Amino acid sequence: MTAVLVIEDEPAMRRLLVTTLQAQGFTVTQASSLAQAERSLSLEPAAILLDLGLPDGDGLAFLRTLRRASSVPVVVLSARDREDDKVTALEAGADDYLTKPFGPRELIARIRVALRHAGPVPDDPVLVIGPFTIDRARHEVTVANRPVHLTPIEFRMLALLVRHAGKVVTHARLLEDVWGARGHDQHHYLRVHMAALRRKVEVDPARPRYLLTEQGIGYRLRDD
Ligand code: CA
Repeated sequence: MTAVLVIEDEPAMRRLLVTTLQAQGFTVTQASSLAQAERSLSLEPAAILLDLGLPDGDGLAFLRTLRRASSVPVVVLSARDREDDKVTALEAGADDYLTKPFGPRELIARIRVALRHAGPVPDDPVLVIGPFTIDRARHEVTVANRPVHLTPIEFRMLALLVRHAGKVVTHARLLEDVWGARGHDQHHYLRVHMAALRRKVEVDPARPRYLLTEQGIGYRLRDD
């Protein structure tokens, strides 16, 4: 059984998290403070759900300390409209975040994706996710068996999102990966290239089914 450590001080929220995870067969350890969480780390959880505001300190500080010693998947629980917190958490080493309030299906899906990505990111020359097949050696892409012609930038964007399928990829990460060191100047182009990419791979680019926008944070390739 997969053990999840839930670090959340709000009792009602903690109960919801625990019952939802247990109903899906996860073993759950609970912590309502950072002190308790630190003690629970010795149980070596397979994944951690981390609230950022805790009575004895900041979840982000805990995450930064944790990352010096551990690559355990961490999903951060964040309030709505706190995009800066989410970006900071991702940069501090969080694997993903959940925005409160969230549904049980979303919670389980995020945990499963985080667990699946616990190992190294796949480096296979051919990546297959949902309808996408990306041949990185030949620079060829098909969507539902239909060849799609992408520019080199669109190709790099899609390849990065496919490698991290199901997880949010921040604007900063995309810019760095696609444009390299010059990336920080290219922020305004990101949206333009994403729009072009959607026109090529989405059935309805105005209502994307795969290339989802994470408002103020980045993009996520739907993986289901
Ligand atoms: Ca809290």
